[in-house]
Amino acid sequence: MKKYNFGAGPSILPQEVMKATAEACVDFNGIGLSLMEMSHRSKEFQAVIDEAQDLMKELLGVPEGYSVLFLGGGASLEFCMVPYNFLENKAAYVNTGVWATKAVKEAKLFGEVVEVASSKDKNFTYYPKNFEIPQDADYLHVTSNNTIYGTEYLKDFESPIPVICDMSSDILSRPVDVSKYTMIYGGAQKNISMAGVTFVIVKDEALGKVSRAIPTMLDYRTHIKKGSMFNTPPVIPIYSALQTLRWIKAQGGVVEMDRRAQERADLLYAEIDRNKCFKGTAVKEDRSRMNICFIMTDEYKDLEAEFLAFALERGIWGIKGHRDVGGFRASCYNAMPVEGVKALIACMQEFEEKH
Ligand code: PLP
Repeated sequence: MKKYNFGAGPSILPQEVMKATAEACVDFNGIGLSLMEMSHRSKEFQAVIDEAQDLMKELLGVPEGYSVLFLGGGASLEFCMVPYNFLENKAAYVNTGVWATKAVKEAKLFGEVVEVASSKDKNFTYYPKNFEIPQDADYLHVTSNNTIYGTEYLKDFESPIPVICDMSSDILSRPVDVSKYTMIYGGAQKNISMAGVTFVIVKDEALGKVSRAIPTMLDYRTHIKKGSMFNTPPVIPIYSALQTLRWIKAQGGVVEMDRRAQERADLLYAEIDRNKCFKGTAVKEDRSRMNICFIMTDEYKDLEAEFLAFALERGIWGIKGHRDVGGFRASCYNAMPVEGVKALIACMQEFEEKH
């Protein structure tokens, strides 16, 4: 039976990416050595990281004056590196969920943090808009897609102050105007790679403005200067990222990823809205295309465990919702074929008929 992985991350990757990565772990490029045992300083790995950086720039249209980095530590380390490098006096944060809340907590260690908007009052089921941004803040921090709650802001953020965005779970799913951001970052383990590598796109001239001393490893300038190789980088996850970036380019780039994301989301939300057993959790206008969250309607609310088992029997993996929201979450990252979504819909319809 064909299986579809709807897990939120680590998550589905194109089959080609996993095969190429597995092959490189045994014999990299026919050299007769595994990429695992090769020096990151070898010319062979240098070619990998160079191409991965170039492809990130090409696919996202990264302008001159920005650096692309592949680091360790996850998006969670960025929560602290961002204020370390950018917060001099005051920073503005939009709180749209658990991850944004964690980012706020770290920033508070470095200076004044103003929570300019929050959707906590409704368990983060909407994306706050039309809030005031203090002109004297050093930056505005936002999370474009809220993986746990299934809300997403699909436009670029307009702000009079520099914008720093956590795009962990929607990077490369649509075109983005990078020039509107001072920094974009995220864990790569959803739309780009296996777990273990973090991507950072940062405007070079915005760095070096804070007065504090920054530990070497936490200073973005260290990694820019050394081309993400100040220390040993996560070699295999970067190789896997390169394979995904090549795949995205071959499929038609972010424009095609955008089209596919919309197609998947339109199909699945239409079924959620139609099916008597299910209802969506996020407000319609802020629904995420990457993490589609839904619960059972009141009449069927006791059937949650039954539906999970029913779906699993039909090859639908990883749809259990995050414990903060409950219900279900179908993560539909770039690599999810529309057939996967159709299989989930068929399963929801069969379940409806059964009850
Ligand atoms: N930010 C968002 C939006 C996420 O979805 C996640 C993880 O799922 C994180 C941050 C944390 O990422 P990491 O596990 O790489 O630290």
